[in-house]
Amino acid sequence: MKAHHLNCGTMRPFGGKLVTGRGSYLEAAELVCHVLLLETDDGLVLVDSGLGVDDVRRPDETLARWWRWMSRPVLDESETAVRQVEALGFAASDVTDVVLTHLDLDHGGGLRDFPAARVHLSAEELAAATRPGKSGNDKVRYPDNQWRHGPRWVPHEATGETWFGFEGVREVRPDVLLVPLFGHTHGHTGVAVRLGDRWLLHAGDSYFSHGEVETPPHCPPGLTFLQKRMEAAREPRLANQARLRELVREHGGVVDVFNAHDPVHLRHHRGVTA
Ligand SMILES: [Zn+2]
Repeated sequence: MKAHHLNCGTMRPFGGKLVTGRGSYLEAAELVCHVLLLETDDGLVLVDSGLGVDDVRRPDETLARWWRWMSRPVLDESETAVRQVEALGFAASDVTDVVLTHLDLDHGGGLRDFPAARVHLSAEELAAATRPGKSGNDKVRYPDNQWRHGPRWVPHEATGETWFGFEGVREVRPDVLLVPLFGHTHGHTGVAVRLGDRWLLHAGDSYFSHGEVETPPHCPPGLTFLQKRMEAAREPRLANQARLRELVREHGGVVDVFNAHDPVHLRHHRGVTA
């Protein structure tokens, strides 16, 4: 299996150093939507899907005004997963499966561009996102009109499986697992991908800054604020960050942990040093 690391949605929030921890407070920061494209023996698999073509062309329909004000997405169609799949010489229909860390609008936006794909996620996340009468954060983060096409949902329930001590793991396929990391949303998971004798763990939005999985942890105040602003449950969120730190400390040589939005992680995986 081969993994490509894509950015499917640059964002340039205000706050500079408050978000990145360096430079000036006045400049715009940079965040990314880190998506994996896996070439497997039986098709392409996406891990997360970033923003989609319709989000970029008609943001008023799906991306709430305050979310855009806060995140300031650049909305570049060439960054969407489908355009990058095509640029690599594949067709959208070659993507057979999309595996989601969660259904926030900047992770599930690309689903409409792959309408035939199976969409894997935790059963808890699908229930939270599709619950009738959503309000507050849930109404903004889970825009129903990103899924009007009727995705082929494949919700996964907890099994007795564990992975490096994480419990309730669900198998999408033998080399792709959902690892529960609840807290940012009610059904948020990481997605573990086996590459030979090593693992990637796409930890989604379970933490926002690469410094949070270092020991001792550190995080720019702007990202601490954003995480609290968007959290569904604080206690499990912080407990899972502690477990991820432990994973990096004890198994960092075997498991490469990264999150969705930190450009430092993305540059590392693309072999670019900043
Ligand atoms: Zn996100």
